[in-house]
Amino acid sequence: MTGTIYALLLQQSELGAGASLWGRSAARHFGKPFDRLLAKGILCEQAPAETWATCRYCTCDYDHRLIREINGRLLAMCPWDHKADEELKPDDLRSFAINRERLVDLIRLANDLGPATNEIMPVLWRVGETEGHRSVLIALDRQSLAQPGLTTVIKASEQARDVTLLCPELPTPEAQAFRDAGITPVVLAETLGMSVAGWPVLDMAMLEPDLNRARIIVRSSAELLSIDGLELRLSRQMNKLFTALAEAVFKPDPFLSPYAIEDLMGREGRDVIRDLRSALIAEGLEKTVVAELIETRRSRGWHLKVDISDVQILA
Ligand SMILES: [Zn+2]
Repeated sequence: MTGTIYALLLQQSELGAGASLWGRSAARHFGKPFDRLLAKGILCEQAPAETWATCRYCTCDYDHRLIREINGRLLAMCPWDHKADEELKPDDLRSFAINRERLVDLIRLANDLGPATNEIMPVLWRVGETEGHRSVLIALDRQSLAQPGLTTVIKASEQARDVTLLCPELPTPEAQAFRDAGITPVVLAETLGMSVAGWPVLDMAMLEPDLNRARIIVRSSAELLSIDGLELRLSRQMNKLFTALAEAVFKPDPFLSPYAIEDLMGREGRDVIRDLRSALIAEGLEKTVVAELIETRRSRGWHLKVDISDVQILA
C-alpha cells in the first residue's frame, strides 16, 4: 500500500505521540479522502509555520529561518546570506496533527471489525475480531510494544482467543517472542490498503495466519502438526523429532547432526529420519513434498528446507 495517504499516516504514527503530517508531503493526497480525515478529526490542521528549518548549505548557524512574503513569494530567509533563501509553497507552511486513536477507530469502522475500539494499554487498541474469531489488536509504534507486562495484559484481556497484533515491522526475535506467547504479529503497513472510495481496508486473509501464512504449524503439547493445511498425527517419538527440526529452523544453525538426533532419539539418525519421512507420507503428504521438506546435507545432517515465516510453533 505504499504511496497512499494511509501509508504516510502509519509511517508518521510510528514516531510516537505528537505525530504530525507536513503539508509538503500531504499535498499530493489532498482531495476527498483527505477532507474526510479532517472532518473526522483524524487530522487536525495546526497553525501555519512561521519559521523554517535551518539552512542546509550555509554556515550562518541560525537555529531557524523566518518566513516572509515578498512580492507574492514565500521565502524562508537567511539573514546572513540571501543565496541561502528557500522559496516555499503555501502548502509547505501547513501541518496536521494526527489523532492516532481516531485513525485506529477508522480502520475498525472501515473493516467492520467490531462495535468499539478499546484501549487495553496505552497506545494499544483492541478493534474487534476476524470472521475466524481471532482478536485484532493494533499498535502504531514500537515503544508501545515495549511496555512491561504487555503480553500478560493481552492474555488476560483476550482469554483463550487467538490474537493478531497489527503493528510496525518488528525485529525477528521480538516477533518470535510474540508468536511464542500465542500472539501473531502482522505488519500493519503491509496489510492496509486503500479502497477506491478512499477507505483504509485490510487484507483480511493476512490476519488469519494459521490458515494462510505458516506452512508448518507445530502444536507441541497437543502432539498435533499441520503441514500445508493438512492435519497430521504422528507417534510421540516422530512428533518429538519433527518438533526438534522445526525448532532448529529458528536457530543460527538449522541442521540437526546425526549425533544430535542419536542423542535425542537413542537411534541412528539416518534410520529415524527415514521413519519420519515414511510417517509423514503415511499421513497423506506427497512423497515429493516430504523429500523437499526434510533435506539431507552431507556432513551437516538434516534440516527443514523452509523459511522462518513458514513455521509456527505453538505451546
Ligand atoms: Zn543561513
